[in-house]
Amino acid sequence: MSISGIKGFNDILPEDTPLWQFIEATARRVFARYGFSEIRVPIVEKTELFCRSIGDTTDIVEKEMYTFSDKGGHSLTLRPEGTAGVMRALIEHKLYAQDSVNKLYYLGPMFRHERPQKGRYRQFHQIGAEAVGTAEPVMDAQVLLMVSRLFGELGLDEPRLQINSLGCPDCRPAYRQALVAFLDEREGALCDDCRRRKSTNPLRALDCKVPGCVEATQGAPAMVEHLCSACDDHFRAVQGYLSEAQVTFSLNPRMVRGLDYYTRTTFELVTGLLGAQSAVAAGGRYDGLVAQLGGPSAPGIGFALGVERVALLLGDRAFERRPDLFIAVVGEAARRKAFALMAALQDQGRWVEVDCEGKSLKGQMRRADKLGCRFSMVLGDDEVVAGTALLKRMADGQEERAALAPEVIAGLLNRD
Ligand code: ATP
Ligand code: MG
Repeated sequence: MSISGIKGFNDILPEDTPLWQFIEATARRVFARYGFSEIRVPIVEKTELFCRSIGDTTDIVEKEMYTFSDKGGHSLTLRPEGTAGVMRALIEHKLYAQDSVNKLYYLGPMFRHERPQKGRYRQFHQIGAEAVGTAEPVMDAQVLLMVSRLFGELGLDEPRLQINSLGCPDCRPAYRQALVAFLDEREGALCDDCRRRKSTNPLRALDCKVPGCVEATQGAPAMVEHLCSACDDHFRAVQGYLSEAQVTFSLNPRMVRGLDYYTRTTFELVTGLLGAQSAVAAGGRYDGLVAQLGGPSAPGIGFALGVERVALLLGDRAFERRPDLFIAVVGEAARRKAFALMAALQDQGRWVEVDCEGKSLKGQMRRADKLGCRFSMVLGDDEVVAGTALLKRMADGQEERAALAPEVIAGLLNRD
């Protein structure tokens, strides 16, 4: 019996990888323009790192982590997100001492034990960016500008940017109290999770999808109405910059994030096209995180997008590559000549295919068709002796006699 893969862990097959490569290449190109450099960190970290950064009472840490003991008895976890590991590396390698602001990006797999469905998997992929070292609102605006331009260059007008402010340790406690008082009055209408969260993580009640909770929290106090003046100024400044660059956004005062480290500006890129999986990208400011992980007090802001969800939005958009040329052969001399031409044309950047299965001429031509080759050429003894052959454009069958010299053929392949 054959062995299958694990539920929620997907293969990305060759027919889909061109789309993935397009997404990754677009992200790298856009991030470079804003001065972000790639960082690669391990996919496994000490469990403690995630508990301390993401927060013990979050869904991720409570229910979703792949945690195991290694042979030395250490508790390790497959990373459920990228920020914690990047901050660990920033602190460990003292990147903050080399530059006052570090702009970093990463891409790769993340792991969460969730119920698999469309747009939600147990191994999924994120592309994320982090800017660490400044609390200035202009950096928030730059990150938001970058993420919105990235979606533009991906050719997507969904998802839409929504922003909120979650305040800071100065103003959030009073807001939290006001929210808990509001929830206390509606305790009976809340789900079990929210009743429990009321004392641990009350803001999550605003994000609960249970219809009773959605209804009960209508009219709940909003963090934006309880911001201290520093947070209020900061949030206004961010919006001012966004308007300067004509970045479109809307305010969503109910937005909370599932990770505890967020402060001030938070945002999501939301779509109505993926059912319940409406968030395509999300992020925010985390001014206390680096210090909380034992580093200096270095404020930061970042985001991550879900590559699978972006791929779903891009759908069937064609990213196919086609071979430039198929050289079909009859006879041993032609086979050797074809091999030499293939090698020389490939060195010039052409995608050239020859028969590797000992097929008949008819079989070779069928293969050229199946591969969608732009041009084909048949070489037999006569062609090898004459030093010329017919180069056929597959789209319309038009033929042209060509010398069997790589530079001549390469020139003719440029015709479309
Ligand atoms: P959701 O509300 O959908 O659970 P989240 O708030 O847990 O998302 P984040 O932790 O902010 O998501 O991660 C950022 C992005 O990563 C999400 O916007 C989404 O595109 C993607 N993502 C998160 N979890 C998954 C998953 N299990 N499968 C696929 N993509 C995911
Ligand atoms: Mg989640």
